[in-house]
Amino acid sequence: MLVLVGLPVGAACGRHQQTPAPAKEQHSSPKPSEAASPSPPPKDPDGLDPALAAHIEHLRARFDPRGWTVVAEPPFAVVGDGTRLQVRGHAMTTIRWAVTQLQAAYFERPPGEIITIYLFETGESYDQHARELFGDPPDTPYGYYSPSDRALVMNIGTGGGTLVHEIVHPYMATNFPDCPSWFDEGLASLYEQSAEIDGEIMGLTNWRLPGLQAALRAKQVPSFQDMCESGGGFYTADPGSNYAQARYLCYWLQERGLLRRYYQEFRAGVQRDPHGYDTLVAMVGPDMSAFRSEWEQFVLALRVG
Ligand SMILES: [Zn+2]
Repeated sequence: MLVLVGLPVGAACGRHQQTPAPAKEQHSSPKPSEAASPSPPPKDPDGLDPALAAHIEHLRARFDPRGWTVVAEPPFAVVGDGTRLQVRGHAMTTIRWAVTQLQAAYFERPPGEIITIYLFETGESYDQHARELFGDPPDTPYGYYSPSDRALVMNIGTGGGTLVHEIVHPYMATNFPDCPSWFDEGLASLYEQSAEIDGEIMGLTNWRLPGLQAALRAKQVPSFQDMCESGGGFYTADPGSNYAQARYLCYWLQERGLLRRYYQEFRAGVQRDPHGYDTLVAMVGPDMSAFRSEWEQFVLALRVG
């Protein structure tokens, strides 16, 4: 069993909110499965997809002079300011594990564009280079996904939890482009603290739990219908419990063996049910007040670790 390091207390999602490109615009280039090609292009000597190999060469020309390490960890390119051993270690453990597990569980297609994962070993380096390379100071000390820069920018010194969380987002954008924010963040948050159990990725309880339990006791957590229908308000009108509520709804579904089925059914029916609430009712209802009571008792009985 491989247990990944989770996020520290107080971590927020690093999704970059300043430049929220609409999901469909984030992936306007032809997807691999749609690209017309009478015969597959030749692989490069390392067996990489030619587009990824070309991107790696570009990154090496740019970052080798800094002494940074550039490696391919398909479908991602990885750049890091740690030692070659450190950068390759992150690529071959956390990234490879997350890619393998998430693809097996949910995602048929790789991200529609090549995403570069930047791994900075210290908070100082992360802050400095995020500003230099992308023009903005990070709004989280842990890491974020910038769709417009096609980049995951990570302070990897804080652990691998944020990295797994952020890897979910570009996969979701390609495989479920109409996914609303609550489920995108709920699933990403679920796996920021995760383990491989019987060969499958499983989210574990984490630091988001005590705050959710306190909010539930204070009756401050919105209904599931309100959460599902929050749209962009998931970010902007957060009562303080949004990520945790979404995460522990996903966790409940996981523990009942329903999460993957929910993902598949929601995705298949998203034109009819864009918020996912009707799909949820069909799965756990129809008495949603009874479900809410059961979920609250379940969550209040959980412990971290
Ligand atoms: Zn996120």
